[in-house]
Amino acid sequence: MTGFPDLRADFPILETGVHFLDSGASSQKPIQVLEAMDRFARTSYANVHRGAYKLSVAATDAYEAARQRVADFLGADHDEVVFTRGATTSLNSIAFGWGLEHLRPGDRILTTVMEHHANLVPWQMVAKRTGATLDHIPITEDGRLDLDAFLEKLDERVRVVAVTGMSNALGTIPDVPWIAGRAHEAGARVVVDAAQLVPHREVDVRELGADFLAFSSHKMLGPTGIGVLWGRMDALEEMEPFEGGGEMIADVTLHNATWAPIPHRFEAGTPPIIEAVGLHAAIDYLDSIGMDQIFAHDQHLTAVALERLSDVPGVQIHGPRDTENRGGVISITMDGTHAHDLATILDEHGVAVRAGHHCAKPLMRELGVAATARLSFYVYNTEEDIDATVTGLRKAGELFGVG
Ligand code: PMP
Repeated sequence: MTGFPDLRADFPILETGVHFLDSGASSQKPIQVLEAMDRFARTSYANVHRGAYKLSVAATDAYEAARQRVADFLGADHDEVVFTRGATTSLNSIAFGWGLEHLRPGDRILTTVMEHHANLVPWQMVAKRTGATLDHIPITEDGRLDLDAFLEKLDERVRVVAVTGMSNALGTIPDVPWIAGRAHEAGARVVVDAAQLVPHREVDVRELGADFLAFSSHKMLGPTGIGVLWGRMDALEEMEPFEGGGEMIADVTLHNATWAPIPHRFEAGTPPIIEAVGLHAAIDYLDSIGMDQIFAHDQHLTAVALERLSDVPGVQIHGPRDTENRGGVISITMDGTHAHDLATILDEHGVAVRAGHHCAKPLMRELGVAATARLSFYVYNTEEDIDATVTGLRKAGELFGVG
């Protein structure tokens, strides 16, 4: 129908027959990624940046090649890519490494009501410590950012605009280049939580216009335990290391230390080495399909699901109702039914969806719900997964006497 390749054979876990619609939480892994990590661990593994022996050199080369692969994927420079434990660590590094250094009483941090807790709680913590205040861009009825309200809230006291690249609960994709342009005119730094964006849509960091960007490998077919903090070099230069220890120093005396060059000063301790190799393989896999194709596939499935779900009695869809500037995440509730019960019944139909607040409790309050059931799509999903979901939802509706 869309000409998108059937990739299911690459994902061993799908042999279980599961209709996996929880990639927004974490994606499944193709054999190409599993084999790359296995091969590396069997043939080239050692700690990096330490030994003069051949294995350590091979491991260091592989680790730095992964950094270059990420840089190329993002249209960034090699030294602007910092490996972290994941998007959460990346965002905390920015908040504590940059925010604690640069925010003063009276400064303002502007974020949004639809942020994942990872791009909200660190800013709350840093606001409390620095005396800066926190404000939030509201959303419109259909779950988009209210850009008029953003402009009203933006003034020269705003030092940071921290915004999601794509909402993990609603699928909304805000116009980050436009937001970044306005924020920069006001003199603010722009932080983008791209945990849901980078896995699903081509991102060129120069076009996006952000100063900092954060994402995780495990949502983009790669392993857990590694993520990326990208920063424009001038922004990274303003940032203090968030963690101290081995690998991140130039020199250490008993009372003092100086920092290694960027990016190493932000990578204290032994980094996720095998995971970097896995992330490299995941990016190769994504690129072999093409990010444009992947986004088109997500959008196709989203369009089909929005249409079929709207026919199911009692189902409410939260967030944008069309596919414009929207990714493959759909939050639903069913009248008179708990989201967790929905997820349990769907599980009985072999459909894996997430139920809960999706680490976006303030957003749930805005929507007036305690929880939603969330479908999220990725490269291995097909219309059959949507059919199975709709069948399960109709069954749930009958059980709960809806409609
Ligand atoms: N931001 C968003 C939008 C997310 O969806 C997630 C993961 N649910 C995170 C941040 C945090 O990512 P991680 O748990 O991999 O650190």
